[in-house]
Amino acid sequence: MRVPVEARVDLDAIGGNIARLREHARGAEIMAMVKAEAYGHGLVEAGRAALAGGATWLGVARTAEALRLRAAGVTARILVCLGVPGEPYTEAVAQDVDLTVGAGWTLAEAVAAAERSGRPARVHLKADSGMTRGGAAPQDWPALVEAALRAEAAGHLRVVGLMSHFACADEPDHPSVPAQLALFTEMVEHAEKAGVRPEVRHLANSPAILTLPEARFDLVRPGIAIYGLTPVPRLGTFGLRPAMTLVADTALVKRVPAGSGVSYGHLYHTERETTVAVVPAGYGDGVPRHGSNLLEVLAGGRRHRIAGRVCMDQFVIDVGDDPLSAGDEVVLFGPGDQGEPTAQEWADALGTISYEIVTRIGARVPRVYTGGAL
Ligand SMILES: *Cc1c(COP(=O)(O)O)cnc(C)c1O
Repeated sequence: MRVPVEARVDLDAIGGNIARLREHARGAEIMAMVKAEAYGHGLVEAGRAALAGGATWLGVARTAEALRLRAAGVTARILVCLGVPGEPYTEAVAQDVDLTVGAGWTLAEAVAAAERSGRPARVHLKADSGMTRGGAAPQDWPALVEAALRAEAAGHLRVVGLMSHFACADEPDHPSVPAQLALFTEMVEHAEKAGVRPEVRHLANSPAILTLPEARFDLVRPGIAIYGLTPVPRLGTFGLRPAMTLVADTALVKRVPAGSGVSYGHLYHTERETTVAVVPAGYGDGVPRHGSNLLEVLAGGRRHRIAGRVCMDQFVIDVGDDPLSAGDEVVLFGPGDQGEPTAQEWADALGTISYEIVTRIGARVPRVYTGGAL
């Protein structure tokens, strides 16, 4: 059955990208970040492909994502990086899911979850080394470490990780990068002197893995690089291969006269008699409305710019005299092999990052998997 629009996800590309990252990780373990539906690629399928490629951990943002992975039979270590009071931590602990603890309330809920589930919680203490987002600020760190050690001594939990997160690793020359590395190192030393014996210390996201070897520690946490998109566009692609190709079949192709106003608002007018094609993908599928009159797609082997507004379910392209027919495939973005734009190119045109382009592809768009061991 054909569908109007689909996202093809190349699981072999994910495996290959993990292999590249392993070269950079030099023995550090890999936690594949699969939050937000694996940046739009599909939580369970991309997670499995990353594990098959050599990742040993998966990282998610929500407890529910971790529980979905467990329900799908994934037995690898999983870390939940973010939570709010009242989340299903008891179920998480019972299902062997690791928790990130960056505040007193998370520690208390981890202890309560351990008591209810009858097994110690595994926690990673998160230090705020300068991002000023999650994690304990330096002045709150000693108290959090002390409280965690008391809970560990009482048998409620095990502190298995010490972690932090970079704010500006995608700008390798930013002064905050060495400052965060130094402060995290100090915070780790403090915790270890106090008696914490972590299995893994971890800091590096994709840009740090590829540009800052000193930040590797015991485990690295790549996200965007797994999906083949560069975390530092001005330094190139690092040999990564984009895993997602977004394709749609044209719904309708017709000749129209010169001066035809196209799509909502008539933001585009045909210059001469021409052929227009309706592409059934819109902002309801994650095609950014800001891409109106701006983004390019590949149709009939040639690049064409979106003509006029991106609508909820569709947009129009002006293909001139190209011989396009209804049902012909249009590639919106992909690895670039056939001349189609990449997600990076769309991001550059829109003034955003490739992360947002792939992650926003909507739930309505079926993911179709190729490669991998599925
Ligand atoms: C998303 C995330 C990462 C991965 O970031 P990328 O820039 O995509 O590599 C790493 N660590 C944490 C805590 C994250 O939330």
